[in-house]
Amino acid sequence: MAQQHLVVCSKCGGVNRLPPSRNAMEAKCGKCGNRLFSGHPEDVDAAIFDHQIARSSLPVVVDVWAPWCGPCKMMGPAYEAAASELEPHVRLIKLNSDNEQAVAARLGIRGIPTMILFRGGREIARTSGAMTAGQIVRWVRDRLPTVAA
Ligand code: ZN
Repeated sequence: MAQQHLVVCSKCGGVNRLPPSRNAMEAKCGKCGNRLFSGHPEDVDAAIFDHQIARSSLPVVVDVWAPWCGPCKMMGPAYEAAASELEPHVRLIKLNSDNEQAVAARLGIRGIPTMILFRGGREIARTSGAMTAGQIVRWVRDRLPTVAA
């Protein structure tokens, strides 16, 4: 597997090529200079969301949430903890459905929190309702058996 990974920066949307030998957790974005994996899932706008889904060679999980949603807030720290376990094998991002209503509508979001897993630009699974960090990690890994644990 000498294939390069395409890692999309969650801060600027820049697409970075990383050789598999490179420690992705240390790598910085060639465009904006920020770490590609900060351990803190970024809230992305529509443009960066589309880039993550379309360009990333990593599976992408998005947590669709809103500031007024109690269960979403409860799940926030769990989602961060899950990111520290799953990244850099999986990219975790957040989407504020109040700020990005067009994207939420396009995704057909009916209730929040909703988590959607994408791979190769396509949705492969979604689930609604707050989860613990352990449940999030298990939900993702069960659907990505080929991704390193
Ligand atoms: Zn960047």
